[in-house]
Amino acid sequence: GNGLMAGKRGLILGVANNRSIAWGIAKACASEGAELALTYQGDAFRKRVEPLAEELGAIVVGHCDVTDAGSLDAVFSEVEKRWGKIDFLVHAIAFSDKSELDGRYIETSRENFLRTMDISVYSLTTVAKRAEPLMTDGGSILTLTYYGAEKVMPHYNVMGVAKAALEASVRYLAVDLGGSNIRVNAISAGPIKTLAASGIGDFRYILRWNEYNSPLKRVVTVEEVGDSALYLLSRLARGVTGEVLHVDSGYHVVGMKAVDAPDI
Ligand code: NAD
Repeated sequence: GNGLMAGKRGLILGVANNRSIAWGIAKACASEGAELALTYQGDAFRKRVEPLAEELGAIVVGHCDVTDAGSLDAVFSEVEKRWGKIDFLVHAIAFSDKSELDGRYIETSRENFLRTMDISVYSLTTVAKRAEPLMTDGGSILTLTYYGAEKVMPHYNVMGVAKAALEASVRYLAVDLGGSNIRVNAISAGPIKTLAASGIGDFRYILRWNEYNSPLKRVVTVEEVGDSALYLLSRLARGVTGEVLHVDSGYHVVGMKAVDAPDI
């Protein structure tokens, strides 16, 4: 890299393993000279995240469960203790009960609706609030969304409703934080086979469908999402906020999708 992120420090939430979108973003930022802090969700992920952090010379700032305010307090106070300030924050977190990422949206339970919104939407707002006082020289906040926010995708269900709320949150947060020169944006990534995606019904079919119908005739990788994230996180995008950037091989621009894709 050319050191686009040299001297920048960022907290990246959502690395579960080496297939995570957050890992693609972390690699891209590190290759351009950023210093990174990672978290893990419980001990099961700790042993995966620690060696990954070591690969990038990143620090690990503890357990992070966004439904547990105490764990967020601890993570942000550790970051403050280690660095005093941060320049960017990546939020790559979502969750919904697997049993409801299949079949009809109408079947969503109140309990899972609230939990999905809490983990996948409210969490961005609460981490943005905690990041604000640490972004003393301005900053860039980035979250991950999906086309299911805009159009109905099979099986995406309550997660689509949550992503719509997440994209609206990006716009409201952009206004709240703009005066502090903190930018807030989202990447709408095409489907990628990650741990979270494995909970979505017929995901293989969705991948093939995207491959067949996108202008680039392939699905995207976490490295490609990482490189686009670099743009939004760096000074290159200093005039961009409240934006949703599609990194999806162009899938979202195609109006007339094929009905008889071969081999699907
Ligand atoms: P992933 O499973 O690698 O990452 C999901 C992360 O969410 C994990 O690190 C997990 O620990 C974290 N998480 C879940 N519940 C949490 C909680 N209560 N507290 C803290 N962390 C919690 O999967 P991914 O696909 O890399 O997902 C990252 C983001 O990208 C998500 O917002 C997802 O919706 C979004 N996204 C994914 C795709 C895709 O096809 N994979 C496409 C578009 C957007």
